[in-house]
Amino acid sequence: MKALVYKGPREVAVEDVKDASVEKPTDAVVKVTATNICGSDLHMYEGRTDIESGRVLGHENLGVVVETGSGVQRIKKGDWVCLPFNIGCGFCRNCEGGMPSYCLTTNPGSAGAAYGFADMGPYHGGQAELLRVPFADFNCLRLPEDAEERQNEYVMLSDIFPTGWHATRLAGLLPGESVVVHGAGPVGLMAAYSAVVQGASKVMVVDRQPDRLKLAESLGAVPVDDSKGPAVDQVLELTDGRGADRGCECVGYQAHDPQGEERPESTLNSLVAEVRATGGIGVVGVFVPEDPGSDDELAREGKLRFDYGSFWFKGQRMATGQAPVKQYNRRLRSLIAEGRADPSFLVSHELPLANAPEAYAHFDDRDQGWTKVVLKPAA
Ligand code: NAD
Ligand code: ZN
Repeated sequence: MKALVYKGPREVAVEDVKDASVEKPTDAVVKVTATNICGSDLHMYEGRTDIESGRVLGHENLGVVVETGSGVQRIKKGDWVCLPFNIGCGFCRNCEGGMPSYCLTTNPGSAGAAYGFADMGPYHGGQAELLRVPFADFNCLRLPEDAEERQNEYVMLSDIFPTGWHATRLAGLLPGESVVVHGAGPVGLMAAYSAVVQGASKVMVVDRQPDRLKLAESLGAVPVDDSKGPAVDQVLELTDGRGADRGCECVGYQAHDPQGEERPESTLNSLVAEVRATGGIGVVGVFVPEDPGSDDELAREGKLRFDYGSFWFKGQRMATGQAPVKQYNRRLRSLIAEGRADPSFLVSHELPLANAPEAYAHFDDRDQGWTKVVLKPAA
């Protein structure tokens, strides 16, 4: 089958690899018809992880079941399914507790498993014609009959819609509250959208990419361009000096700023300053453990400068981590199916798998207009 494989820093290629197949009775194989490129793929693409050459990337997948193992009962050949990026077993302590993002079976001793990801198990990704899905009865979200026509909406259930939603839940957002979101990438835009859907009174989105800020504005958010002045000052002004009730970190580790100007303050410290005392901060941006290439000694050790003193004095709370996609997925699927939410507004490019290498380069460079790429391997 054809698949997009990691070769080395900023080098990916579409190659012929061994077909994905049923390896255990609980597996299914899915023909992938839609698979996104994610900001999380860039941590690997930019060469800041130890992912091995030859691994198939891609953790935001949707398609049709073409084969099931003898132990699969609920999922059938021909089903249209979306695959949460977390690979859970369904029966460990964390899966039972609603946190399959920290499954203890699929990546023992570590922080959960995912398709095509460094440090998250040996699983290949779905930027390929076929994908092996372990524990298929647990990990497949069955889609309604209109799945084929609405793939660009439902594919967002694999990661960024639930992840954006999770950021608002980690922050503890309540209807009528204000929220500031750092990052207008796909995740930040989905956090802003989720806040709008949940009845936030004011949603502010910080970034400096004009096209992404424009998209944020089209959702009903107030765009905050931090190339025009510190985000903290702008957010305090927008909230009459009180600060936002909640904050969402949707940036994570950024290797480089294609706009050239580095920010003077980290997103976490900005959020501590922008969120009111006793407010909540949800962090879904991924901070890769170590950055060997950085000239900052702390970053090389995987540590951050954090203004813990202000955080403590303001009595804020902060929650973090990989989104437990399944916790939200049925409800978000219903919002899409009933026409109450349409996350496909993010899709800027729909491309065949063969174009994946150039799409990675454009997305990584934040080229204007490259918001979210959906690849169509088996269209
Ligand atoms: P992205 O890289 O496309 O978007 C990041 C955006 O942040 C860019 O638009 C960039 O201009 C902006 N930015 C950079 N520095 C900033 C700053 N200091 N303040 C405000 N904005 C700034 O990526 P994405 O796909 O939107 O993903 C965002 C993060 O979320 C990544 O770290 C990704 O790994 C992570 N993620 C986490 C989960 C999870 O489960 N926790 C799931 C998916 C993605
Ligand atoms: Zn993703």
